[in-house]
Amino acid sequence: MSQPNSLNRSLVTVLLSPAVPVIIFLIFLVIAGGLKYGIGRQDNAHVNDSLATAANALARELEQNFRDHLSALQRMAGRREAQPGLPESAWRKDARQYLEDFGTYQAIEWVDRNNLIRWVEPMDGNRSVLGYNVAFSLQRKQALERAAQTGQLDISGAIELRQGGSGLVIYAPIGRGTSNAGFIAGVFRMGKLIDFLDAPRIRNAFRVVILQSGDPAYQLNTSGRLSTRYAATVPVDLPTIDWAIRLEPTQRWVREHLGASAWVTFFTVLLMGVLVSLSVLLVQLVLRRNQALLRTRNELQQEIDQRISAQSDLARLESTDPLTGLANRRFFMEDLAHTIGVADRQLRQAGLIMVDLDRFQMLNDTLGHQFGDELLIRVSQRLSRLSDERVMVAYSGGDEFLICQQQVDDIDEVINLLGQIQQAFIEPFEIQGQRHSITATMGVAIYPQSGLDADMLLRHADIALYRAKDSGRNTYQFYTEGMQNREVMRLQLDKDLNSALSNHEFVLYFQPQLDLATMQIGSVEALIRWQHPQRGLLPPGEFIPLAEESGRITDIGRWVVQAACRQLADWRDGPLNHLRVAVNLSGRELDDEGLVDHIQEALTRNNVPADCLEVELTEEIFIANLERNLDQLSRLTELGVHLSIDDFGVGYSSLAYLRDFPVDLLKIDRSFITRVTERHDDAVITRAVINLAHNLGIQVTAEGIETEAQLNFLKNHRCDMAQGYLISHPLPAKDLEKLLARGITFEDVTNTP
Ligand code: C2E
Ligand code: MG
Ligand code: MG
Repeated sequence: MSQPNSLNRSLVTVLLSPAVPVIIFLIFLVIAGGLKYGIGRQDNAHVNDSLATAANALARELEQNFRDHLSALQRMAGRREAQPGLPESAWRKDARQYLEDFGTYQAIEWVDRNNLIRWVEPMDGNRSVLGYNVAFSLQRKQALERAAQTGQLDISGAIELRQGGSGLVIYAPIGRGTSNAGFIAGVFRMGKLIDFLDAPRIRNAFRVVILQSGDPAYQLNTSGRLSTRYAATVPVDLPTIDWAIRLEPTQRWVREHLGASAWVTFFTVLLMGVLVSLSVLLVQLVLRRNQALLRTRNELQQEIDQRISAQSDLARLESTDPLTGLANRRFFMEDLAHTIGVADRQLRQAGLIMVDLDRFQMLNDTLGHQFGDELLIRVSQRLSRLSDERVMVAYSGGDEFLICQQQVDDIDEVINLLGQIQQAFIEPFEIQGQRHSITATMGVAIYPQSGLDADMLLRHADIALYRAKDSGRNTYQFYTEGMQNREVMRLQLDKDLNSALSNHEFVLYFQPQLDLATMQIGSVEALIRWQHPQRGLLPPGEFIPLAEESGRITDIGRWVVQAACRQLADWRDGPLNHLRVAVNLSGRELDDEGLVDHIQEALTRNNVPADCLEVELTEEIFIANLERNLDQLSRLTELGVHLSIDDFGVGYSSLAYLRDFPVDLLKIDRSFITRVTERHDDAVITRAVINLAHNLGIQVTAEGIETEAQLNFLKNHRCDMAQGYLISHPLPAKDLEKLLARGITFEDVTNTP
């Protein structure tokens, strides 16, 4: 393709060169010159032919005239010979007759045998020749003798006449040999001689030169300017003399015979050359203009192309999330609507999976946005590997991804995809040089069972996700009809929370914590319950997240601290005065600047020593916003309040923060304890946490102890305290008092060193 193109281009470049019209003009010039030369040659030949024809005609005419004269003179000589005694007067009469007949003679003479002119007619102008010897030269003498001898005519050729001027004499012998009686001589003036011919016509056209033996003997000049290029010489066939006639044409005659065709052709062709060159020049200009237009069009096209690609880039950007490179929510929703349409026609199902990264917000807040962005990119990379012609992966914003599975025939296909998504999170993510184990929780809605349009499916997947989060992380939930009802209930609950505080619907339950060294209850954890007017006693999991979302947690938290202090004050003067009470604080509560002041005020108001109060914070809350927390927590410990980390082990792998925080206690999460006696990993972790805490001078509580085996394990590994249903469920204060009064015993708890 490119070779012919470049050939075409170079051809066009050559054709558009300014040399082309010049070359074309030069070609025409050469052709014109050639044609002119050829035609000129033809013209020359024609002129020469015409000239030769004219010269020939003249010579023949001259010959004819001479022959007439000769025969006339011979006749006269014959008569003289026949009548030698003819008197002079008769001769003169005859001669006059003769002169009149021809009119061209200067004179008619009788020359006797001694070559003397005896008679001359007319006498006027010729009288001086009488007695003149015409054999004035040897050559003449010999010629005359020869003529007398042979009886042949003699022509003198051009000579100086006795009468003056140039002339010619024809001698006709009267008798021959011894009987010769002289000559009848006809004298012509050369000028007159030419009068034989069509003098004016000839004179206008030519200079006539009579050559005698090759030399000019006489010339008849013309008035016109002569051409130097042409001349024609033809011999004149006359007796005894060697004559030729040369015609030299006038320029005018030549012009007339040349014609103008050579020059006309020359200029015509030249004009054509000019016209063709100008046309080519014009075509070149048009072509160049076209080329320029074409270039402009190409540039324009390029610009249009660039714009189109910019627009498609824009369209792509509009449909793509710039950070993750995945489809964005808007595009996903459009596609989902389309997918639903197709599924409807094909009588198939479609799955919508909403994926939420566990603890992302907290990670983002603590490790920075850059970390968060990198994590999102890595997760996107893994999830996008799942996308194919049936699966679309999109980033919805925050820590949420949307996945749509098309052409679903069996719900197992969705379950299979969910498994693949979970697989994608198994390998830890390496970010900023560290490996982080991230899990995801998913909500699933299926078309058409879970909703008939995209928005409905999305809402229901969201509800399912919420449920999945509720039931613990790293799992998934399909949307079911009941969820909708639960969602409605949740909203109702949120409304009811408004009045719960003022209606005194909250109560504190207390769960004892067993000191494993003394086997005594040294502290209790205060756990809130909501005595809901319609729904009965609700555990904190039902309403604390709602309260956190709405911000009502701050007031609830203050109430808890207040209630706990009141309870401490209650127990102060009784048998339970040694108890420490632990309260749970959520992250939102820690954000409250007035928190420490409020706790201090509650302690003071109830006259409770600060070291009777313990504050539990989850590991996640601890880490979130390290700087500000450090300040709040330092103020708390300065106050004398104990600080413990709740649900330890499910959060960060980095434990460096333990060094910097004034932590008194770690509470190992229930998830490790539940199978601590069965799973080697859990046992190892639990032991490691205990050792680590002890090395840092921190005490350890184990949560969720339900079996004596667990209790034994912990006791044997020198865990400081234990909490769980085995010891006691959370109880109202009164019940706790009774329980502690009764005493708790563990028969099977062993003490191995
Ligand atoms: P948490 O602080 O880790 O409290 C321990 C939870 O484990 C309690 O659930 C308790 O009833 C439960 N538990 C204790 N021993 C066992 C056991 O042997 N087996 C099992 N399966 N569970 C056991 P609860 O009372 O439902 O509280 C749940 C969570 O709600 C608490 O977890 C705490 O994070 C939060 N919470 C409770 N009260 C408050 C409060 O006053 N304020 C705030 N912000 N959060 C609270
Ligand atoms: Mg707790
Ligand atoms: Mg806990």
